[in-house]
Amino acid sequence: MEPQRSPLLEVRGNIELKRPLVKAPSRLPLPGTRFKRGPDQMEDALEPEKKRTRGLDTVTKIATSQSRAPALTARTQTQNQITAPKVPKKTGPRCSTAIATVLKNQKSGPAVPAQKPGAAAPPMVGGRKPTKRPAWDLKGQLCDLNAELKCCRERTQTLAQENQQLQDQLREAQQQAKARGAECRTLEGELARVQAQAEQGQQELGSLRARVLELEEQQCTQEGLLRELQKEQLELQEERRGLAARLEEQERRLQASEAALSGSQAEVASLRQEATSQAALLVEQGERLHGLEMERRRLHNQLQELKGNIRVFCRVRPVLPGEPTPPPGYLLFPSGPGGPADLPTRLSVSRCDERRGTLSGAPAPATRHDFSFDRVFPPGSGQDEVFEEIAMLVQSALDGYPVCIFAYGQTGSGKTFTMEGGPGRDPQVEGLIPRALRHLFSVAQELGGQGWTYSFVASYVEIYNETVRDLLATGPRKGQGGECEIRRAGPGSEELTVTNARYVPVSCEKEVEALLHLAHQNRAVARTSQNERSSRSHSVFQLQISGEHTGRGLQCGASLNLVDLAGSERLDPSLALGPGERERLRETQAINSSLSTLGLVIMALSNKESHIPYRNSKLTYLLQNSLGGSAKMLMFVNISPLEENVSESLNSLRFASKVNQCVIGTAQANRK
Ligand code: ADP
Ligand code: MG
Repeated sequence: MEPQRSPLLEVRGNIELKRPLVKAPSRLPLPGTRFKRGPDQMEDALEPEKKRTRGLDTVTKIATSQSRAPALTARTQTQNQITAPKVPKKTGPRCSTAIATVLKNQKSGPAVPAQKPGAAAPPMVGGRKPTKRPAWDLKGQLCDLNAELKCCRERTQTLAQENQQLQDQLREAQQQAKARGAECRTLEGELARVQAQAEQGQQELGSLRARVLELEEQQCTQEGLLRELQKEQLELQEERRGLAARLEEQERRLQASEAALSGSQAEVASLRQEATSQAALLVEQGERLHGLEMERRRLHNQLQELKGNIRVFCRVRPVLPGEPTPPPGYLLFPSGPGGPADLPTRLSVSRCDERRGTLSGAPAPATRHDFSFDRVFPPGSGQDEVFEEIAMLVQSALDGYPVCIFAYGQTGSGKTFTMEGGPGRDPQVEGLIPRALRHLFSVAQELGGQGWTYSFVASYVEIYNETVRDLLATGPRKGQGGECEIRRAGPGSEELTVTNARYVPVSCEKEVEALLHLAHQNRAVARTSQNERSSRSHSVFQLQISGEHTGRGLQCGASLNLVDLAGSERLDPSLALGPGERERLRETQAINSSLSTLGLVIMALSNKESHIPYRNSKLTYLLQNSLGGSAKMLMFVNISPLEENVSESLNSLRFASKVNQCVIGTAQANRK
């Protein structure tokens, strides 16, 4: 038979069950977690006891438990004593309530049925378990019950003491709980503060994280930048190395250059010394050169004088295509006194006198007419060859001697060809005017090196029927040629000038070329109104030359005159004179008059007459200053190669021979 368990035992068991719940919280429990479970567990623990105490075995159980009660009590006390200090300080009000409930159950003990007084418990025989009293032994049972009641009362007393202790413990626990509550509130406040701090910390952490992210981004960017900078640094290092190498090279070169420079400086110093001595030498040479130049001019002039201040050159033009070939021997060019090597100076014209031949009935022998000049140019002579002979004479104009060059001869004999040149722009056929000017410009430039400065002014007029017309006219006067007059440049001045004529400064060939072209155009315009006027007029190209040597205060001035004379042919008086012929006769007379005046002036000059008839013609008047004693003259007598022109050719040659016999006194340079 299983011993009955006492309800007190059950209570103690409950307490034992409860104790861990009370004891447990060395960890601070979250409010409400443990205390929710407590009452239920206590309920569950108490409930079966209640049921059991109401059962039929209640009496038996109590009896059984009596023998064990003191031991159990002692144990409970011990346990309480042991566990009491372990009661957690922070046991909340609910814990206290649970303990109170247990104690109440113990006190009230309604589940424990009261033993009948007098019901004696079956006695223990020899330590053996008392046997169950028979149902009829009511007295024994009562006796047992009384014994048990007594036991219970003792037990109750013990429990009351125990209860008192527990109450004390409970109070203590409550006080502790109260303290714990206060502590808990403090801690809760602290917790709240800590939580607030934690929240703040979280916020700070969030902002710090954002900042960290930002910094990380910045770091990334800076790392990229750093990489770029490193790359750049590498490149720069490379460049620096290259530059260093170049610098080294440059330094080497510089050293070499410095060495060369010091050598050069020494050289420069010696060169400077040399230059100084050279400059002194140069001054000396300049002086000498000037002396030589003066000497050259003097000798040049002497030579020109020896050649004669009036020279005559004869030029025979070639037979043109379509013209009859002259008979052999018609024109002969006997070699000079020194033999064939000498330049030709003689010309021989053979003329058959038909009338004489007719009278005798037999062909008359040809009459030879010999002429001698300073120079004779046969038909094959080129323009350059002709110019070579006059170049020195032209140069005299730069030295201050007036120079006059005439082209005399019948129309078509080659006067214009000689003075201006042939048709077209062939340099081979360039005439004396462009060649003379080019030569003057070139010599003037050379003399510039010796301190001379020259300026040139050109004019170009024609004299037709004793009227002067400007061939350089432009604009409305072009081709018409306004009335021009020859006047003195100023009161008391020896210099003559043509009014209404253009005087154009020239300094290069191109400008001269343009002037000749303009003159040619002006003549062409005039030709439409007056046929062949050019051959009936004199063309006078004048170049006024002014030279100055500022260093020595020297000045010189002279004019170069290049004159294309009108045709020298004479009108046959036996021919019948129609109205047009009369006009032509008048022109011819004017021409002949001016040409004969020219001859007369030359004769008078040669004969050193007191009166020189310059004013008898416009031509001589215009050329007055270039025909005097200080002037140098050259006359080209142009001859046609054709036999049919023999009469005119002989007339021209006779006129030229007369001029050639003239000797004009020693020329004086126009020095100021
Ligand atoms: P002028 O002026 O005396 O009337 P030109 O100079 O007009 O004579 O010449 C008449 C023609 O003869 C022109 O066709 C010219 O080209 C030509 N002529 C003149 N002289 C020469 C020469 N030395 N060589 C070639 N042709 C010439
Ligand atoms: Mg002509």
